[in-house]
Order: sequence, then structure tokens, then C-alpha cells
Amino acid sequence: MTTVAVRLPLGFAGLDADAWPRPRTFPRAEALERELDVLPGVGPAVKKRLERLGLVTVGDLLAHRPFRYEEPVPERRMADLGRDEEVAIAGEVLSVSKRRRGRLQILTARVSDGTATVSATWFNQPWLERQLQPGTPVRLRGRQGRYGFDVRSFDIGDGEATADFAPVYPASEQITAKKLRELVGAALPIALADPLPATLKESERLPERNDALWSLHRPRSLAEAEAGRRRLAFDELLVLQLGLARRRRERETEIAPALQPAGDLVARYRGVLPFRLTEHQERAIAEIDADLQRTVPMQRLLQGDVGSGKTVVALYALLRAVEAGRQGALMAPTETLAEQHFLTLEEPCRELGVTCALLTSSSPKRVRDLAPSADVVVGTHALIQEGVELRDLAVAVVDEQHRFGVEQRKALAEGRSPHVLHMTATPIPRTLALTVYGDLSVSEIAKPPADRKPIKTAWVTEERSAAAYSRLRKHLDAGRQAYVVCPLIEESETTQARAAEAEAERLRRAELRGYRVGLLHGRLRPVERRDLMARFKARELDVLVATTVIEVGVDVPNATIMIVLEADRFGLAQLHQLRGRVGRGAEQSFCLLISRAREDLTDAAVDRLEALVRTTDGFELAEVDLEIRGGGQLLGTRQSGLTDLRFAHLRKDRPLLERARALADELADLEGPLSDEVERVFTGRDLSAG
Ligand code: ADP
Ligand code: MG
Repeated sequence: MTTVAVRLPLGFAGLDADAWPRPRTFPRAEALERELDVLPGVGPAVKKRLERLGLVTVGDLLAHRPFRYEEPVPERRMADLGRDEEVAIAGEVLSVSKRRRGRLQILTARVSDGTATVSATWFNQPWLERQLQPGTPVRLRGRQGRYGFDVRSFDIGDGEATADFAPVYPASEQITAKKLRELVGAALPIALADPLPATLKESERLPERNDALWSLHRPRSLAEAEAGRRRLAFDELLVLQLGLARRRRERETEIAPALQPAGDLVARYRGVLPFRLTEHQERAIAEIDADLQRTVPMQRLLQGDVGSGKTVVALYALLRAVEAGRQGALMAPTETLAEQHFLTLEEPCRELGVTCALLTSSSPKRVRDLAPSADVVVGTHALIQEGVELRDLAVAVVDEQHRFGVEQRKALAEGRSPHVLHMTATPIPRTLALTVYGDLSVSEIAKPPADRKPIKTAWVTEERSAAAYSRLRKHLDAGRQAYVVCPLIEESETTQARAAEAEAERLRRAELRGYRVGLLHGRLRPVERRDLMARFKARELDVLVATTVIEVGVDVPNATIMIVLEADRFGLAQLHQLRGRVGRGAEQSFCLLISRAREDLTDAAVDRLEALVRTTDGFELAEVDLEIRGGGQLLGTRQSGLTDLRFAHLRKDRPLLERARALADELADLEGPLSDEVERVFTGRDLSAG
């Protein structure tokens, strides 16, 4: 069985219950759980602003990770500035001005040190204008470029932010870097419990937890910062693995209905498919069949790129439940997706005489009353949360597993114990999935059905966007359709929708004048969205301007070109998903990624865009993403609050992950309350309660 906990020989032998500090000897984790207004200088207004950054407790603040550190650079007089050398300069602001270039907001301050004057520039941080009034003394780090001094970090007054190894936190309008540094400074002296046994810290060369936090926020060298990060990564991985270990143990006691071998209904299903299943699909099906025959609930991850044919396999699994006289359910993260799935499944179900129902929170009561007794129920995860009683659920398919928090996955399995197939189009390198998910088996559809042509992708800078639109219009004039994806705006769905509206309006007047342009965003009501999609599918619209809501589920084979605006803002996995909206027919499709000039992008953004141009292979991209970021977002636990992997880099920290896993198994074997307490101390949250 897949759920056997394998004890890895990692040298933890002898670490029995007594080696661990007993729970009652830990100062409670309360210090971490306190809200930030316990710190000096945090009133209601600042508290609110911090909250908008996701910082609520002292623990959150301490875990707010700098995204880089300033390395030592030479000091220069402005008269001696060379081109492209990273340096520090100091002087006084003479004047400040603001302008726009496309979507870029550029703030320029004339700064002088008496030897010369430079034009210091900041991008997209208009709120700094107020702080940079004439006469203000500043210290700047950055490099002299073609158009001015490109500021990487700066100080007004004190020299902390530009000091050697100063932590750099993500910039934000909510709170100044200076304030954030002060608050972190106030939080650091709060002594925290360190529940890891000394022997373990020694053998793993891990610093004390308190020291690790100091090293993170106040390192004296990059090596020290890295040592701190590594310790915090271990804690984080341990918490993740404790959760998994506990689930493994719970599942060992669960029982699912064992289904008879494949029968008549699925044989007929194969008959009604207008194509032959690929070798990869057949293999996945064989693996699923083997799982379904057992009384251990299936927990299988089916991964494959968008369009690789997962849904076909998923329906197979659902029909296996139906032919056994039971019920299958497919759960999607959004209503749009649930509707899309329903449209796909409805027809083959009807042909097979299987009843199929759509159930979402906007379904009318009549439907909601009847749906739970259908053979196949398609719905959103509201299905789970609102506790709809499914008559006799034997197989559940959970789509886009990365959008479901761990806790939701758990809720589904609890009490019902159906066989569960998780589908994801965000491939995770297989070995990694095994280590991180531990409790899931993995099936892969590594190759799409043969008749697809790989999408051609180009990276285009904003100056050349006119050429991109003229390319797009060529497709439209040839009777094809297109997508334009609007820039990602993190603040809220409403802001995002408003920006998309403005962009659509602009395009209707400019690049797309004379074409029929529709707008799809997250604030549309389900019926409006459905209507819009139907019109696009029926070719009543030429272009769909959209936010990321088209990321998954939309299937219009006649759409052959996509433009993504400000593509550098998106994550790799997200861009890959978006791109999968085209290339769904036999025609050659194109994806044009538009961004600022290369010099204005971070290294990571350049790496992402280059990777997308280079390959359409989702598994290869997953590897690249892992390389760039450590894969936190890939892992699908982002929304759970449980394991936002913040410190761990899954590639670099692989050995650490394996040790955390072994340790978690040992801990889970010990008293329950002990592992609860360890989690609590590490996270500042009582996870077992939630
Ligand atoms: P996914 O769920 O992985 O995105 P789908 O199952 O929706 O992929 O399949 C994408 C498209 O490819 C659908 O139109 C489907 O009918 C088609 N398809 C699936 N399997 C095959 C196959 N073996 N041969 C040809 N076309 C297929
Ligand atoms: Mg699909």
C-alpha cells in the first residue's frame, strides 16, 4: 500500500520521546501569536497596513523574508561615477518629477553631492515622491545607466537600507522599508522557544531558531543569512511533513469501496470516444483500475499538461463508480471551471445513459435538491464545504489540485473515504511529488495526443507591441480568434476587473478597432460569463480580453493566438497555463509575451520568459520553476495557510526535506500533543484546532 511510512536510515535512531523537550517546558508560542500592535509604533492605522501585506502576528513579521541582501559595493563621488558599476552615492535632492512611459511610472530625482549631479530613477513607486522633497539628504545604491542612476535601494536619513548585507523586503505602498526594518528590529528580541532537540541541531548543523531569525533579518554575511534560512526551511518542511505523516496515519484506518474490475459501461465509453486513447492515457487508466480494486482509498495525482487528455481519463474513473452502482463527483476550484467540465462530460454521459448534474453555489434550489442523486455530479468545492450529501460517492475527481488547500483535500476525504483522483495541469517533477506529497501516488500523461503542433512562443518588448498586434490581426482576418491577457494586479479582483475594462476599452479604440472584442473577468456573474464564453465559442466575438480567469478550463480550438501583457509579472506555471488556451486545434498557434525591456526586468523574470520561449514541455518548465523559485507555488499548498513554503528551496534543500520527513514520521509515532506543540511553536498558530 502507498501509505506505509518508510523509515529512512538518517541517523535519528535513539531519538525517543525523552530526547524532546516536554511540551510543558516550552514557553507557549503565545509571543508569536500576538498581534502586531504589541510592538511599539504600531497603532490601528499601521496595523491595518501591515495586515494588507498579510502580516498580522509577530510570527508573520518574523517570517517576512527579505528577498535579497545588499552586497558590499564601493562608495563613489558623483563626479567619479562610471557606467554600469554598482555603487553607493550620497547627496541631497534638488528636485523631483514624475512621468509615464506606457504602463511604466517613472520617478526621477535630481541629486547632487557637490561634485556632480545625477538623475536618480525609480520605477513604479510613485508614492516615493512625497519622501523625496528638495533638500532631503539621501544615500543611494544602484548603477549609472544610459538614462540615469537606476536606484536599487535608498535611504533617507539613516544609512541602514543601503548598508552592507541590509535585508531588502518587497517594496510596497503600505509601509516604508524603514518602518518595516524598525518593526522587525523590535520583534527580534522576543525570545522564542526552540523545540528541536540539541542533538538534532548538532547533527544537522542547524542554528538555534532565535539565531536563525537574527541571521535572516540582521546578517553579518551572506553565509550567515543562508544558515538562518536553512534552519527556518527545516522547520517549515518539518511542519509540512508532520501534516502529511498525520494524514498517512489517518488514512491507514479509512476504508473505501473496492470496485469490481472494469466492466461494460467503460467498454462502451471507449466505444463512443471519437479517438483512440494514447499510450500514456492507457497507462494512467491501468493504474487507476488497480487502485480502485482495493479497499484502501485511492489517492492518486494525475498530472499532465493542459490539453494532454486528463479529463478523458477522469471521466473513465467516474464511470467506474457508476458501473458499480455508485456515484462519481468532479470538483473544480471555480464555477467557470465546473461549468466547463460539465459541458465536456454531459454529452458522453448522455450517450451512455448516465445522469450528470451540475451543482454550484449559484444552482437553483430545484437543481440543488436533485443533483446529489445523479450518477455523476460536477461542482465546485462548495460541494464539500456546504456538506452536500452525495448518495453513494465512490470516486471523487478533484481538478486543479494546486488550488485546493491541504485542509480542503482532507475535508473531502474525511468521513466519506471515496477513491480520490487529483488532476493537475501544473506538473510537479515526479520524484519531488513523491517526496513532498508522500501520501499520493502519481500518474503522468507526459505527451499530448499526436495531432497537436507545439505552440510557438515569442517574447516581445513593449516598444515592439505594435508588431504583435498586427500579427494578431492577421489571425483574426484569417477567421481565427484570439486572447489578450491583461496585466496581473494583485490587490483585488475588483481592481483587476476595472483595469481589464480600461484595457479592453483602449484596445477597442486602438489596436483592435473594428473587431468584436469581449471582456472576461472575475467580477462577471456566472450567467454573464457563460453567455460570453458561448458567444466566443460561436465566433460572435473575435477577441477575448481577459484576466487570469481564463487560466484553466476554456476550450476554443479556433483561438490560435494569445497576447499576454506585462508577461514578466506572471509566474511561470501561470503563463504556461495561460498559453494552454491556444494550440487546442490542429492549426499552428502562437503566444506573444509582452514585457518591458530586458534591462528593466529581474533576472528571475528573464529566466521565466526565456524558458517559455524555449519549451512547451510542462515538466521541463516545472524543473525550471523549481530552479528559480524552489517551487513553493507549484506545490499547491499556497492557500492553505499551512505551508506557504517561504524558506525552503525544494531543489537545494532536498536532503533537508528528506530528513524532515523521517523526523516527522518519528514524531507522529510519539505522543500526538508533542507534534501539535512543535507545529505550534514553529508556526505561531494552533493548527490542530483548525
Ligand atoms: P486536459 O483535461 O488534460 O486539459 P482533455 O481531456 O480536456 O485534456 O483533452 C483535450 C482535448 O483533446 C479534448 O478536446 C479531447 O477530446 C482531446 N483528446 C483527449 N484524448 C485524446 C486522444 N487520445 N486523441 C485525440 N484527442 C484527444
Ligand atoms: Mg481539461
